[in-house]
Amino acid sequence: MRKKFVAGNWKMHTTRQTAVHLAQQIVEAVGQETAVDVAVCPPFPYLLPVREVLAGSRIALGAQNVHPEPQGAFTGEVSPVMLLDCGCQWVIIGHSERRRGLGEAHEFIRRKLVAAVQHGLQAILCIGETKQERDDSQTFAILRAQLQDSVMALTADQLTKVVLAYEPVWAIGTGVNATPVQAQEVHSWVRDWLGQHFGSGVAQRLRILYGGSVNSKNAASLLAQPDVDGVLVGGASLQAMEFITIVQAAKG
Ligand code: PEP
Repeated sequence: MRKKFVAGNWKMHTTRQTAVHLAQQIVEAVGQETAVDVAVCPPFPYLLPVREVLAGSRIALGAQNVHPEPQGAFTGEVSPVMLLDCGCQWVIIGHSERRRGLGEAHEFIRRKLVAAVQHGLQAILCIGETKQERDDSQTFAILRAQLQDSVMALTADQLTKVVLAYEPVWAIGTGVNATPVQAQEVHSWVRDWLGQHFGSGVAQRLRILYGGSVNSKNAASLLAQPDVDGVLVGGASLQAMEFITIVQAAKG
């Protein structure tokens, strides 16, 4: 039985004050939740103040990005070692806003993924197709390439530190979520692919989140799908009540 996982990606939003307040509201409402794993991923500058708020709760801290190298002359970057030092347990890798918006290549994403898990971080690895790719019936070809270029660099043991997030690019921040049927179709395909490459035991244990315009109204029906093991929430994670309701929905 895979425990549901709800993660909030705050993107480049909040101020120090609003980040702390948002974290406080989440901790108050679901901070001791045991039936669902919950994580929040604030912007880098607010990791430490949010960490203080999360202390003593069951909510995990995540970052939105990481560089593959542990240290060095990489201006503006943050290493896995630094994230661990700031109390992060999770890091988002391969988000489409970085793949497509910032031109991150498969190879760079693979290096980040390998470095993150080697250092002991858990990774939320995002994959997903654009609208054009879906319209061209390329969804599975795109996902296959994204998976092959990333998780194939991991051992089955390292893969236990990874959660996949299916995030169709056309659904991110658009208000148009994948339907539960569309999400289930892809998640089940991803699990089959994992089974072929890592064995069915690994595939059955690995959590696959859905992300893309998840909110308090559509979360329950997405989470009711057998292969949807949680959600990665962007916009709606910035409103405490929305996020809390989504966590409650994950309890089933
Ligand atoms: C995301 O940023 O991962 C995301 C899914 O965003 P949104 O929920 O706003 O679509």
